[in-house]
Amino acid sequence: MENKYQAIMLGKFNVGETDRMYSFYSAEAGKNMFVARGTRKSNAKLSGALEAITYTEIFVSRGRGRGQITGAIPILNFSQIKQNLFSLEKVFYVFRIFDQLICQEEKDSEIFALLLEYLKMMEKNSQKEGEKILERKILTLGFLFKILEKTGYGLQMKFCVNCSQKLIPGKNWFSSAQGGTLCARCSQKEKGKIRIKDEAIKTIRIFLENRIGNFEKIKINSEGLSNLEFVAQEVTRWIIG
Ligand SMILES: [Zn+2]
Repeated sequence: MENKYQAIMLGKFNVGETDRMYSFYSAEAGKNMFVARGTRKSNAKLSGALEAITYTEIFVSRGRGRGQITGAIPILNFSQIKQNLFSLEKVFYVFRIFDQLICQEEKDSEIFALLLEYLKMMEKNSQKEGEKILERKILTLGFLFKILEKTGYGLQMKFCVNCSQKLIPGKNWFSSAQGGTLCARCSQKEKGKIRIKDEAIKTIRIFLENRIGNFEKIKINSEGLSNLEFVAQEVTRWIIG
């Protein structure tokens, strides 16, 4: 029996002397892992198509044991991302968090679509002419907040998460443990809080209400961006440690 997957390759590790295990996220089966025989010596063509970040059609033979990858045809290679150190760093950072948030073999077509759209936008913004650093930072942060929401870590960014009062500009705090913004009064009792700037609140709202395809239009000043990066760091640290 042979199964076919439309897979985004996440990573690999060596098994035995010549084989590799490949981890991927597919539209058909969510996060999954299979072995490919001989990819470390003779089967270079197969290992190329299974390289991390590649969007590939994978064929898995389920004859015996856990199943093994017998063939792969690349659909999108994302070569611009792969040639750009900054993009690679961002994508692998996201993959590490993604891997910890997502459970094995839980299919979710929306998560698959998000991941694919993120990679397509990163590819578009990784072209050699014109360094789109800010755009790629925003895309990566936006994808992160969207994935957090999809996996059950939705953040309250419109009201105080504790008393439900409307937020007053310039006076808000953020708590990962509470899962959102806190007003000045409620923040007094909260220990693990951090300052959150209006720009960061606004940008997270935009992330949650819009498609990744529109994120490259987002404008944010450098102070707002570093605050947003700090908030993202705090949330992921709280969730995955
Ligand atoms: Zn409050």
